[in-house]
Amino acid sequence: MRLIKPSVELLCFSTDALQLIETAGRTCYKSEGKITSGSTEIFIRMVLMHGHESVIEHAVATVRFICDRGVTHEIVRHRLASYSQESTRYCDYSGGHITFIIPPWIQCIEPGIYDAFKNIPNKMANEWLWILWNCEKSYKNLREQGWKPEQARSVLPNSLKTEIVMTANLREWRHFFKLRTPTTAHPQMREVVIPLLEDMKKHIPIIFDDIIIP
Ligand SMILES: Cc1cc2nc3c(=O)[nH]c(=O)nc-3n(C[C@H](O)[C@H](O)[C@H](O)COP(=O)(O)OP(=O)(O)OC[C@H]3O[C@@H](n4cnc5c(N)ncnc54)[C@H](O)[C@@H]3O)c2cc1C
Repeated sequence: MRLIKPSVELLCFSTDALQLIETAGRTCYKSEGKITSGSTEIFIRMVLMHGHESVIEHAVATVRFICDRGVTHEIVRHRLASYSQESTRYCDYSGGHITFIIPPWIQCIEPGIYDAFKNIPNKMANEWLWILWNCEKSYKNLREQGWKPEQARSVLPNSLKTEIVMTANLREWRHFFKLRTPTTAHPQMREVVIPLLEDMKKHIPIIFDDIIIP
């Protein structure tokens, strides 16, 4: 089996997102004539302050998460987004190593290929490794005996590495960050969402300024 850390990548976002939002938003007031080199920030802060958030729906961003299946279950609960998720029906994991995600509370296990099971001193981390080891073995046994990937997948755990691409408008991303960065959110969710928010703040200024990472 292969063990990896989760990751996140901002794949694409509306170019000139801020200008697009200003152009669209000023249509409401027919104030396009007031657009100057310095007007965008003031205009966007004004609409956000007044809760006129539909205006920021004109700009979108697309993100790739590589995380475990538990986290993708939580991500897809956000309904105002589009998703493409690695399929355990169509992907066959019997040919090579099955990849699992190391959770942040297990610090004694390094990413890498684990060809043979060997006990490690941390009792709970060892239990986790042992279960994954057996899940991989059972999946492969079931595939060898004729089960399809869509049947053998039933023995795969939440730790299974899953890729998901999510596209949403900036209003939905704001909502997503407000729910998924606080300390009440799941630690594995925060592990990918906090770096994402930091990256989005760099690439798309102003829009996320008021969302403070706890
Ligand atoms: C800390 C935490 C713990 C959670 N625990 C659980 C749990 O134990 N069990 C569980 O099932 N879920 C749980 N959830 C998921 C949660 O209930 C929501 O499904 C998820 O956060 C998506 O939120 P949302 O519906 O606001 O967002 P989205 O689906 O992204 O929607 C965005 C906004 O659009 C509006 N909207 C969308 N659809 C509708 C609609 N049909 N009608 C009216 N307005 C709509 C709402 O204003 C909504 O806030 C948890 C979430 C968090 C953050």
